[in-house]
Amino acid sequence: MNIEQYIRDIKDFPKQGVDFKDITPLLANPEAMRICAQELLNLTEMQPIDKVVAIEARGFFFASLLAEKLNAGFVPIRKPGKLPFDTLKQPYTLEYGMDTLEIHEDAIQKGDLVLLHDDVLATGGTAQAACRLVEQLGGKVVQCNFLIELSFLKGTEKLKYYEVRSLLTY
Ligand code: 5GP
Repeated sequence: MNIEQYIRDIKDFPKQGVDFKDITPLLANPEAMRICAQELLNLTEMQPIDKVVAIEARGFFFASLLAEKLNAGFVPIRKPGKLPFDTLKQPYTLEYGMDTLEIHEDAIQKGDLVLLHDDVLATGGTAQAACRLVEQLGGKVVQCNFLIELSFLKGTEKLKYYEVRSLLTY
């Protein structure tokens, strides 16, 4: 099965000039979900992983499936004010302006091997900020794992010190 057929382009979302990759048709199809989860798992080469860390919100869908298969814990990274316990915060630059990501302070133990997962790698700012949070807590990012890489935005340059694997590249 070609899973690309379940990803649709939405023109001018969330703003004019942006071509948004919408993965909701893929999420709605159980066979596509199963195949996609297996192929994302294959990208990890079953390296030992203690925690799968995922970025709000679209990173959560496949990350929990990966965590279960890798016998690893699941850790959410979220936008400000969403996590209930004490958090570590990391500001990062967006195309226009700034945003912040947060992680629970006790979510990663020193020396934890981490798989970072998100649905899309675009400019790489989000994943870079997430890696910094993991590292500040003493974790080691073993791989940055994405469903989609928008290679023309050169996100891998921001992640050049990490192993980066993506299922689909545009
Ligand atoms: P970056 O920081 O790499 O520029 O942006 C990546 C973040 O924005 C990811 O968390 C991702 O969910 C979201 N994102 C950016 N572009 C797209 C897109 O075309 N489709 C989807 N589904 N998410 C996107």
